[in-house]
Amino acid sequence: MTTATEQAGGTGRTLIRGGTIIDGTGRPAMRDGAVVVAGERIAWVGPAREAPEGPYDLVIEAGGKTVMPGLIDAHCHTSYGEVRTHEEEGMYPGAEYSAIRAAWNMQKVLRAGVTGICDPGSRWGVAVAVRDAMAAGLVEGPRMTAAGQMLSTHASIGDLFPLWVGSPPSNVGVLCNTRDEMVREVRRQVKQGVDLIKVAGSGDPNPVWTPSGDVPSLSLDELKAIVEETHRLGKKVTIHARAGLAVRYAAEAGVDWVIHGDLMNETDLGALLKTGIPICPTLTLLVNTVEWGHLVGASQGLMDSYKRLIDSSVKILSLARQAGLRFMAGTDAGFAVTPFGHWHARELEIFVKYLDFTPMEAIMAATRNNAVAVNLEQDGGVLEPGRYADLLVVDGDPLGDIRVLQDRARLAVVMKGGRCVDLRHPWPQAREMRYERTHFMTRRTLYYDTVYGPREGVKTERDGGDGV
Ligand SMILES: [Zn+2]
Repeated sequence: MTTATEQAGGTGRTLIRGGTIIDGTGRPAMRDGAVVVAGERIAWVGPAREAPEGPYDLVIEAGGKTVMPGLIDAHCHTSYGEVRTHEEEGMYPGAEYSAIRAAWNMQKVLRAGVTGICDPGSRWGVAVAVRDAMAAGLVEGPRMTAAGQMLSTHASIGDLFPLWVGSPPSNVGVLCNTRDEMVREVRRQVKQGVDLIKVAGSGDPNPVWTPSGDVPSLSLDELKAIVEETHRLGKKVTIHARAGLAVRYAAEAGVDWVIHGDLMNETDLGALLKTGIPICPTLTLLVNTVEWGHLVGASQGLMDSYKRLIDSSVKILSLARQAGLRFMAGTDAGFAVTPFGHWHARELEIFVKYLDFTPMEAIMAATRNNAVAVNLEQDGGVLEPGRYADLLVVDGDPLGDIRVLQDRARLAVVMKGGRCVDLRHPWPQAREMRYERTHFMTRRTLYYDTVYGPREGVKTERDGGDGV
């Protein structure tokens, strides 16, 4: 028998037997189950004792392990690198290096058990290029859908810099301050090859140069125009909407899913519930910063503002869950607190810990519910005959402890399209290049007192620490 990692294939027949199957639909787990893969798709799922006769090119013994759909992360920014500042996010580095770096990062994402990602907001056209490179087989990585730069007004999170700097072409957002500019930008991005349009529908509660996050950054009429034109051209729309009113606009305009929603009130939630539009809260960035930001030098100001957001989110999102709103799972991978390949399953733990999800519900969010974000509503997300064989064999029981999905040492098999990823290669490592990051000269200010200590009767000059 060959081991899973020795399989060259994707063309043959594979039997995975003996494991506990979680199919992603919400059906109870099946003990001692089997999955048959033929070519790139699933051919059969059922009890191991009833599995169809061979011959098989490969048999994977999954006894004591869990077989489940590959995870989908509905919120990854492939072009960001792993940014620590907004200047890195919107200025560094150039398009060419960003694209190569993004492609390199994608192998880590796949090897972490993530077989599908959506990039809702890309610098340059990086996400489209990386998606195509992976689809063409030039680079190993997950299935992917790509947005371009976020459609932004001056009140949006996508307009990062002061007015006198403007919005450079490297920015995460593209400025569209009128309805006509928005419609034209939708057409331009569709021609560029995007799968979806991302609207930066509010600011951020930790404002750099944009207003805080509790007002919509565009009008309902403008949002309707974007959604109408995007849908007319056969693409999807999602929106960054922390502001509750922005969520209400999103519901009324008919976006395909809403991102965040932290500052919703019950009326906003009611509007969303009426439509059946799902929400992708993306709490990982916030919770990682609040729980572990001190380990990586996050400022107290940032941690405090994120804590307030989480408190608000947990309250309204728990209500949303009880009311039956459909949840998607995303992490905002691409920041220094959400590096690629490390935290894609963390959102599931957060759903369980903060929002009272069952582990099964959390898994459904990251598989079946997320299929919409990667255009795999019919072809992916769950283990069913006819769907892509994108699956994991996990050494552990995620229904007992959802955190096992974050430990990549427990991934016995990562299969995408019927092919096993070679997990024997060492985890990719790279050096940071000069100018890849914002270039601090120093982190703090060298006052006389910094060297010699405070003098009696003389007030010490302030030291703002690491800023923000
Ligand atoms: Zn994001």
